[in-house]
Amino acid sequence: MPNDYDIVIVGAGILGLSSAYHLKKNNQGKSILVIDRFGDVAQGNTARSNAMFRNTFTSRDNLILSDTSIDFYLDTQKSGVDLGLKKSGYLWIMSEKQLSSSERYIQKMLDNKIELRTYDRQELKRLLPTLKTMFGESDESRLLKIPDIAGAAFGVKCGRLDPEKLSRFYSDGFRALGGKIAFNSNVRSLIAGVKEPLGIEGEPFVWQEGRVTGVSVEGELQGEIRADTVVIAAGVWNNELLDPIGIDGHVKAKKRQLFTVSAKQNPSLQALIHTTGFNNIDVLPFVILPKSGCYVKALEENNEFWLGCEDEFNRPYLNIPEKTLDNCKAEPSYYEQSLYPILRSYFPEFENAKPAQMWAGYYSMNTVDSMPFVFEENGMIIAGGGSGSGIMKGDAMGRIVDAVYREGDHAVTTLYGGRSYEADRMSFKNRSVEREEWVI
Ligand SMILES: Cc1cc2nc3c(=O)[nH]c(=O)nc-3n(C[C@H](O)[C@H](O)[C@H](O)COP(=O)(O)OP(=O)(O)OC[C@H]3O[C@@H](n4cnc5c(N)ncnc54)[C@H](O)[C@@H]3O)c2cc1C
Repeated sequence: MPNDYDIVIVGAGILGLSSAYHLKKNNQGKSILVIDRFGDVAQGNTARSNAMFRNTFTSRDNLILSDTSIDFYLDTQKSGVDLGLKKSGYLWIMSEKQLSSSERYIQKMLDNKIELRTYDRQELKRLLPTLKTMFGESDESRLLKIPDIAGAAFGVKCGRLDPEKLSRFYSDGFRALGGKIAFNSNVRSLIAGVKEPLGIEGEPFVWQEGRVTGVSVEGELQGEIRADTVVIAAGVWNNELLDPIGIDGHVKAKKRQLFTVSAKQNPSLQALIHTTGFNNIDVLPFVILPKSGCYVKALEENNEFWLGCEDEFNRPYLNIPEKTLDNCKAEPSYYEQSLYPILRSYFPEFENAKPAQMWAGYYSMNTVDSMPFVFEENGMIIAGGGSGSGIMKGDAMGRIVDAVYREGDHAVTTLYGGRSYEADRMSFKNRSVEREEWVI
């Protein structure tokens, strides 16, 4: 029986769409279908993201995946496509301990030609006069163990973009090349078959070469869709499809939350948004505070901040989350009791600030090394493990999926700008990604 498509991709988030675009662009004769259970592109965790990007990594793999993707996004926007991209920069504010343990990593990044500036406490205070840098012996700072600020590192080729615009850029390009997308269609299961079927009931047998031969779908698209290759880019839902056929998806879902605070009625918060001296758009850069990974993102066009925090301990992992994100909600108490006390300790202008909106999503965590992966297995190419940075590495990931499709796990991918990357560094059989050292 002939296949319905050469390639079926499950998932129309950033990873599925970037893969679809690069696959179609480089294999124009191939028929490609993307399937998603939501009604439009990027309605999963891509839509719930903070969508920040940075190239400030010590790991060679993180660096090349993000740096080439950022170059592609910058050049795409320069060519006239609005991706909502702003190079506002990343400002890591650090305690004495963090600064001294980061010194060699900062040097490594400078050696790798990453644009990075450093500030001591006085310089930081000059640029951010309201930032509280010394805490003395107050009861609250003792209780919260708020460290004094010693300095900061500033990543220049870093900033934010609009994940929906980026996703639409890929989906429009994919469709213009003849690719198809089926929305409101849930892939219920993968079809386990064999490379050379004998037509005997009960296949695949252990002595046969088993492979996924298609997907079983319900919704607007119905029935069995046969494909030569199935790409799994279902984000935190990869395990839902892979567990039943005995393949380890290597991801677990971890909830992350974002809270917005409006600056409209608050002149001191407005002044903070329009901080000068860091970038040429005169906006506060993305700030990471020295305590608990709390961060502050300024959006001057909305006159608001987005605020978040990293919580690891006591935040459960989920192996297979619910099919929609409807019940994945932000917790007001998390803002009030965890994030807010740290925030207003460093930036007193947030005193009494209440969140106007809040939402939550899931990081698709590769629990081994927090790095993404692409690997081939039984007729599938599986991409995932964005681990909180899938958008900033999205373009490179799509190119790697395409290279693995054309040349297999051992493909050497040409990333944007001409840099090459050995795809099997990101596989599991031959995994050799460099650990990220700069985790503060
Ligand atoms: C709060 C938060 C902040 C973040 N901040 C950043 C950041 O600053 N920078 C950054 O780079 N990354 C960030 N991330 C991570 C980033 O959002 C993800 O790495 C990225 O969006 C993952 O893309 P994806 O395509 O793998 O998954 P998704 O966007 O979740 O897409 C998966 C798609 O697969 C579909 N699907 C799944 N199963 C099926 C099925 N059986 N049938 C049909 N369709 C199916 C889903 O409907 C979904 O549309 C953040 C994430 C969160 C939650």
